[in-house]
Amino acid sequence: MKSLVLNAEWDPRSDYNITNDERESKKAMNASQVWRDPELRVTERERPIPDDDEVLVRVRYAGVCGSDTSMIATGENGYVHYSAYLRLPNVTGHEFAGRVVETGADARLFEEGDLVTAEVTDYCTRCNMCRQGFHGHCENFEQLGFTLPGAFAEYVAVPEKILWDVSSLREAYDDDDELLKAAATIEPSTIGYYGLFGRAEGIKPGDYHVYHGAGPIGLTGMNVSRAAGAGKVIAFEPSPERREIAHELGFEHVYDPITRDPIKTVNEVTDHQGADVHIETSGAVTQTYPVIQETLAERANVVHISNAGADPQMALRQLQSNSAQLYGSEGHTGQQVYPRVIRLMAAGRLDNLPIVTSTFSLSNADKAIHQAAERVDGKVLVKV
Ligand SMILES: [Zn+2]
Ligand SMILES: [Zn+2]
Repeated sequence: MKSLVLNAEWDPRSDYNITNDERESKKAMNASQVWRDPELRVTERERPIPDDDEVLVRVRYAGVCGSDTSMIATGENGYVHYSAYLRLPNVTGHEFAGRVVETGADARLFEEGDLVTAEVTDYCTRCNMCRQGFHGHCENFEQLGFTLPGAFAEYVAVPEKILWDVSSLREAYDDDDELLKAAATIEPSTIGYYGLFGRAEGIKPGDYHVYHGAGPIGLTGMNVSRAAGAGKVIAFEPSPERREIAHELGFEHVYDPITRDPIKTVNEVTDHQGADVHIETSGAVTQTYPVIQETLAERANVVHISNAGADPQMALRQLQSNSAQLYGSEGHTGQQVYPRVIRLMAAGRLDNLPIVTSTFSLSNADKAIHQAAERVDGKVLVKV
């Protein structure tokens, strides 16, 4: 089958304390310390055979994530920017939708023909974190498109426990092609949903939400905030293309943080009440946290989603005097996040299709990754 394979050279930095596990498995816990000189290639590979508890999915659409672009972006000495778990060579891609074509011997939740999407993290169910219900923080986790073969391919094998049926989206989309295109954007939406409702607490209809960064995670999150009844959704985004997408989605309070003073703007738009919810989706935390701490409504929730390299200066006193909470949020696993996002989409209250701005064929999947790295698109998809 055709697939997009990422490879790089395994060359742990001399000051990186590599574990025996990493050395034996060739899985780096921090890719940026180990993998250098990445290379993408569309190539032929064996079609995966599903394990007993897995389902084989024929992929129709797969989205390009910031993590995919950071795996090919390099810094000093050619080391990749991506700083989490990665085994290479691997088929990347983890935001996808498609049709079930085969089920493993013990898989019983799905049958051939079902339309599906999947969570990313394959958890073990037995470690201490899993036994506490925190499957997203499993101590033995693997991830589709990171350490397991992913979805920039004709077929992907997926453990059925992380697969979700999306056929209910037929209520909202005319044909299965549109439906699967929309379903490939469920994963980024679940990141915002999990931050707002899986981690933060006490968010109320009518709250003012401020997004710092309107890339794919910010844009899909803004859609979730609106569907959940935000009083106003405000966004700061330096890219004019991305601001335009936000406008097209119907958001009116979208600003360039370089030319408009964000603190003044939040104060004006919220009538000096401040933001009840701040969502950090830009990664430019040294610039955004000074704004966040000056524009906190009483009992504000700050949801930290982005993967930032640097650390901001934070006035703790400000959090304290506003009775504000800061929530770290990572991933989207479990807690019925997927089915709820799917329900919102089926009800027509959450539509990410306008966020999709470029679509590439699988033969050009490498170009899709490079296009997404330009940071001007809403969402770049690969159509298989
Ligand atoms: Zn992603
Ligand atoms: Zn586990």
